[in-house]
Amino acid sequence: MSDVAFCAQCGAAVAGKKFCTGCGVAVAQANPPAPVRPMPTIPTEYPNTVTAQAAPSASAALSTVSIILSCVSLLFFPYIFGTVALVLAIIALVQKQRAAGVALGLSIGLPILGFIISFAVLSSVA
Ligand SMILES: [Zn+2]
Repeated sequence: MSDVAFCAQCGAAVAGKKFCTGCGVAVAQANPPAPVRPMPTIPTEYPNTVTAQAAPSASAALSTVSIILSCVSLLFFPYIFGTVALVLAIIALVQKQRAAGVALGLSIGLPILGFIISFAVLSSVA
């Protein structure tokens, strides 16, 4: 601390006091308190919700690929893309990835739908 030791008005000892005991004048601080400037907020610790959301979204890649392949299998080669999508969905399910259940359902349903469509097309042609 750098309190003013003596009053500027009357010379009384005012160290550690806000007001002079001799004349009552406010003791001037040699070093006024530095203005509180806003510190740049650097997050040193992420909230648990952020990491909890970031991890599944990063690990939902297999589910996403499986869903995409399921959609592809609806139109092309349902036995190939459907099988790959089903395998990926099972892996995603084992790894407890987000949307793994949706991927599994689509990887089963869409290829079957693809088969039905392809059979319907073939039967209509024949
Ligand atoms: Zn004084």
